[in-house]
Amino acid sequence: MSSKKKITVAYGDGIGPEIMKATLNILDAAGAQLEYDVIEIGEQVYLKGISSGMEPKSFDSLRETKVFLKSPITTPQGGGFKSLNVTTRKSFGLYANVRPCKAYSPFIKTHFPKTDLVIIRENEEDLYAGIEHRQTQEVYQTLKLVSEPGSEKIIRYAFEYAKKYGRKKVTCMTKDNIMKLADGLFHKKFDEVAKEYPEIQTEHKIIDIGTALIAERPEIFDVIVTLNLYGDIISDVAAQVTGSVGLGGSANVGAEVAMFEAIHGSAPDIAGMGIANPSGLLNGAIMMLVHIGQPEIAEKISNAWMRTLEDGIHTGDIYQEGLSSKKASTQEFAQAVIERLGQKPQKMAEASFDKEATEPMNIKLSPKTKSKKELIGVDVFIDWDEDNRDPNVIGERLRKANADGLQLQLITNRGVKVFPEGMKETFCTDHWRCRFKTADQRVISHDTVLELLKQIQGLGFDFIKTEHLYTFDGARGYSLAQGE
Ligand code: NAD
Repeated sequence: MSSKKKITVAYGDGIGPEIMKATLNILDAAGAQLEYDVIEIGEQVYLKGISSGMEPKSFDSLRETKVFLKSPITTPQGGGFKSLNVTTRKSFGLYANVRPCKAYSPFIKTHFPKTDLVIIRENEEDLYAGIEHRQTQEVYQTLKLVSEPGSEKIIRYAFEYAKKYGRKKVTCMTKDNIMKLADGLFHKKFDEVAKEYPEIQTEHKIIDIGTALIAERPEIFDVIVTLNLYGDIISDVAAQVTGSVGLGGSANVGAEVAMFEAIHGSAPDIAGMGIANPSGLLNGAIMMLVHIGQPEIAEKISNAWMRTLEDGIHTGDIYQEGLSSKKASTQEFAQAVIERLGQKPQKMAEASFDKEATEPMNIKLSPKTKSKKELIGVDVFIDWDEDNRDPNVIGERLRKANADGLQLQLITNRGVKVFPEGMKETFCTDHWRCRFKTADQRVISHDTVLELLKQIQGLGFDFIKTEHLYTFDGARGYSLAQGE
């Protein structure tokens, strides 16, 4: 039986085939024990009418090999095409997106030569659930979903990653000063899990100042764990400030399957010219080699690659007059790396991937606990655009609804209280959130809610959605309105 590890490979679009060929040449020359199962993805597949960008038999390849080395693809504009990356992440549960951002100064220009951070981004939930609705003439909604197991899994992954790779600090970034429930959950889980890793320093930063600090002082960060959208944004900021947009690799890791790629896209503007930098994909492949248990090959390639940069052999995107010695094509650059296999960088720190780093991470979630869930009210969202949108008019009309004591408490418009006693200056859209509770906050039934909705319909209102107000072991499971 072959000792080679079979992996799924996709050449992708644009510069994809050029950089994949260069990368595989380097992997083979370094003695990586790999067999390639090549699949087709991207534009050609989309144009065959397959909206996911990947044929079912390609999913089977991935199911078998569990490791995917992928070139960038071009996503056709419009026309209901789905992002292949999002599909792959979700179908195979690739919950962790790992993006190292490192400075290679002075060989790659950066103002922050000491930067060496890793962003661990939650990959499956948050605003990327893609649940969107247009509810009124004026208002559109995207649902942000954050789950307890989803948060715990990525946070544990970040701490295990830090432990495995000898990192000292994990920073959590959220916006829990505003999103107290969803982001608050992520922050709370972070604090809980952190207690199990006393050897690792921890901190929390609000995402806005956190992003500003990445742009201004990226050297202060080590491992950063955050929710999906924030992670998407800060990864690009970090890559940009370290000068590594064209150099960065990324891993999407799940319990079974993992996908490795460059962070950049298919660069159609330079496709076919043979000048693209293969380093991003190569760095993705280096992460893959560590993942599949070939860390010594990963080390050999990484050292040779750094030595190539030090020797001034640079592709056009990183070429600097005075510092670079040769402007290399994609294949020349790959050849230069191959010639340096076995050599070490002389100025930059050598790559070193601990054998232990290849052990699979064993992420175990805390046992589930169930709390007592009780229904104590309902928010009814109404589309209303009459009487100059006077909150007192809708408020007085809705006061007539009373289902077994379930009555109107307040109305907000885009989260701000407008009834009773709103401020006349508040701008109102056609989207009204009307909160109904009993005076004594007693537990109600779904039948009572149905009766209330019937009455609201009878009063001539278009209710567009409801959100139930629950308590969990008596604790409020909903946010208070601004001004409530
Ligand atoms: P891009 O990353 O492809 O290109 C941005 C700029 O960087 C271009 O000027 C390009 O020439 C340059 N560049 C990128 N990679 C380079 C490399 N390896 N060497 C030298 N220069 C390089 O971003 P874009 O132009 O916004 O997107 C192009 C296409 O890529 C779009 O269809 C987009 O959907 C897709 N895309 C795919 C992925 C992926 O498959 N993971 C990721 C991002 C974008």
